[in-house]
Amino acid sequence: MAQDARATPGAGALVDSHCHLDFPDFDGRMDAVRAEMAAPGVTHALCISVSLAGFPKVLALAEHYSNFYASVGVHPDDAERSSVDEDELVRLARHPRVVAIGETGLDYYRTTGDTEWQRERFRAHIRAARRVAKPLVIHTRAAAEDTLRIMREERAEEAGGVLHCFTESQETADAALALGFHISFSGIVTFKNAGALKEVARRVPLERLLVETDSPYLAPVPFRGKANQPAFVRYVAEEVARLRGAAVDELADATTRNFFGLFSPPA
Ligand SMILES: [Zn+2]
Ligand SMILES: [Zn+2]
Repeated sequence: MAQDARATPGAGALVDSHCHLDFPDFDGRMDAVRAEMAAPGVTHALCISVSLAGFPKVLALAEHYSNFYASVGVHPDDAERSSVDEDELVRLARHPRVVAIGETGLDYYRTTGDTEWQRERFRAHIRAARRVAKPLVIHTRAAAEDTLRIMREERAEEAGGVLHCFTESQETADAALALGFHISFSGIVTFKNAGALKEVARRVPLERLLVETDSPYLAPVPFRGKANQPAFVRYVAEEVARLRGAAVDELADATTRNFFGLFSPPA
């Protein structure tokens, strides 16, 4: 039951390619969040799953609002170090409102001890993505080498996708780009101390760029430290455009086009 007709993105329209609108932060606030998105021309958002238990709520958002889409996956930080069943992912991912597999990947920053369970989980997601021919949303932190190695071993390039909330080196970006992946920047790129990352944002080819908020985390400057929301993807786009010496509308149009090209969401 779609509540509104799908907006055709016009000039300067933006998409938040990664947010967690199912988190309790947004409970009872969806009308306000959507109104605040619409004002600066943020026309669509991809609601990202972090656990299978939370997936029904993510999917419900994408079923209820025609300009929201869903992903299915289990975040590498998920506290239960359980394995994820590839067949179950495939079954859930076949839903037409599900446009991506993830977020998945590796995070050695917040995990101590044995991390083999993360790698096994990541492999299951890549295999599922290849089976359903839907792109991957990959989270990588302090684990770039293993992330790229597993992407290659599991032929992630057959599914394609994005390295989201990118904070890694130029070398890592180049390796992901060589596999055909996109690179998505979050509010971190607006932070004053993000010098190296700003340089990467200058150099990623325009046709592989995406922007995101990762709401409710990582609010961009000038809202740093406050609650984030999809409307603020405008500030991420403005900073990336500024870094590249591009017009904001040009950056917006390119990232929106890239989003629809990568995720080919249903009409
Ligand atoms: Zn993430
Ligand atoms: Zn996320």
